[in-house]
Amino acid sequence: MRVAVIGAGAAGLATLKALLDTGCEAVGYEQRDRPGGLWTDAYASLHLNTSRGRR
Ligand SMILES: Cc1cc2nc3c(=O)[nH]c(=O)nc-3n(C[C@H](O)[C@H](O)[C@H](O)COP(=O)(O)OP(=O)(O)OC[C@H]3O[C@@H](n4cnc5c(N)ncnc54)[C@H](O)[C@@H]3O)c2cc1C
Repeated sequence: MRVAVIGAGAAGLATLKALLDTGCEAVGYEQRDRPGGLWTDAYASLHLNTSRGRR
């Protein structure tokens, strides 16, 4: 099954991982230049603990 996940916020990232873990052909799309959604700009000192986070 091919699935598109729109948005790479907390919900989109978790959904994408769950889909990939079950063997779906899933692709994520994010309109901004980085993943994380609200968490990336709600607090200046907050960072996503992922290699795909802000560089
Ligand atoms: C100040 C603040 C404090 C918070 N504190 C907490 C907390 O302590 N605990 C907690 O559980 N929650 C907290 N929240 C809420 C938490 O941020 C949200 O619950 C969470 O970010 C929701 O994740 P989400 O993926 O649904 O949405 P979002 O984080 O909003 O991510 C949605 C993503 O989709 C992208 N997107 C939207 N439309 C499109 C499109 N058409 N195409 C491509 N990409 C698109 C956006 O750019 C964004 O990156 C807080 C929120 C704020 C603002």
